[in-house]
Amino acid sequence: ATPTAVMVATGVGANHGVLVKGGDALERAQNVNYIIFDKTGTLTQGKATVTTTKVFSGMDVGDFLTLVASAEVRQQNIPKDFAYSASSEHPLAKAILDYAFHFHFFGKLPSSKDDVKKRKEDAFSQWLLEVADFSALPGKGVQCLINGKMILVGNRALISENGVNIPEEAESFLVDMELNAKTGILVAYDGNFIGLMGVTDPLKREAAVVIEGLKKMGIYPVMVTGDNWRTALAVAKEIGIEDVRAEVMPAGKADVIRIFQKDGSVVAMVGDGINDSPALAAADVGMAIGAGTDIAIEAADYVLVRNNLEDVITAIDLSRKTFSRIR
Ligand code: ADP
Ligand code: MG
Repeated sequence: ATPTAVMVATGVGANHGVLVKGGDALERAQNVNYIIFDKTGTLTQGKATVTTTKVFSGMDVGDFLTLVASAEVRQQNIPKDFAYSASSEHPLAKAILDYAFHFHFFGKLPSSKDDVKKRKEDAFSQWLLEVADFSALPGKGVQCLINGKMILVGNRALISENGVNIPEEAESFLVDMELNAKTGILVAYDGNFIGLMGVTDPLKREAAVVIEGLKKMGIYPVMVTGDNWRTALAVAKEIGIEDVRAEVMPAGKADVIRIFQKDGSVVAMVGDGINDSPALAAADVGMAIGAGTDIAIEAADYVLVRNNLEDVITAIDLSRKTFSRIR
């Protein structure tokens, strides 16, 4: 392709919200063999909502939610719109805050038809507890001190690494949620398991069609996620992805890319989060999707600004059309 053709293609892409960083990236996309998708925020909408709360400790549900929400919020700096104050930038953190807020503001657990977005910042900040020593643990959850005691909010790995026993009743409840494509969030306080929450994040509407389209183009789709195996497999099944790598820590996502690159294959990665950045950088073609985290956008070759998975196909098509004549 001539420099002019590359320039034209770059412009056509930009008109569709497909931003490509340079001619090399544009050229590589035509040869993609494998495409690795992050789950949360990439295949799903990243708009998680809490569907279930289960307190196992006899603790009052309001106290439980106060603890969990306090752990998920960056207490030191609550901006005007608390929706953006989730401590870990994680969609799960935001879902928990919305839900707990609803409980405290309206005095009852939200039913699915309630609008959890109705909220008042003043009321919200009145019941949050002070936290100390906060840390977000990518791929696991969050931990901090509340009233001098350690609270852990996250997945099984986080809870068991800290030596907290998960009761059998909670475990079977979790498995049930996971088989239904929900993510279970476990909570431990002061060394005891105190309860769990179930979160669901709807698939992007176009996900299944795009996966089918990629297969027809001869490209093999894979899903990689930090989420647990059962949830991951349930989600993958709904959209037609057969190859899943779950319970992968952020650094491990880049290793998955390298595994597929081993035989000289050209590998694309599509992701949105900070935890996808190493994989976006390792891929031959990295595509940051959506509002995306700045770090993800920096690591990627493409930015798909419309947050629509169809643009993955648009990007590959554009490359194929631009370079087909010289192949
Ligand atoms: P993904 O790869 O799907 O984007 P992550 O690596 O971000 O997933 O997270 C993996 C898992 O860690 C989540 O499914 C969740 O169980 C747990 N987790 C991560 N961040 C949080 C958080 N802020 N609150 C609760 N759980 C979290
Ligand atoms: Mg993600």
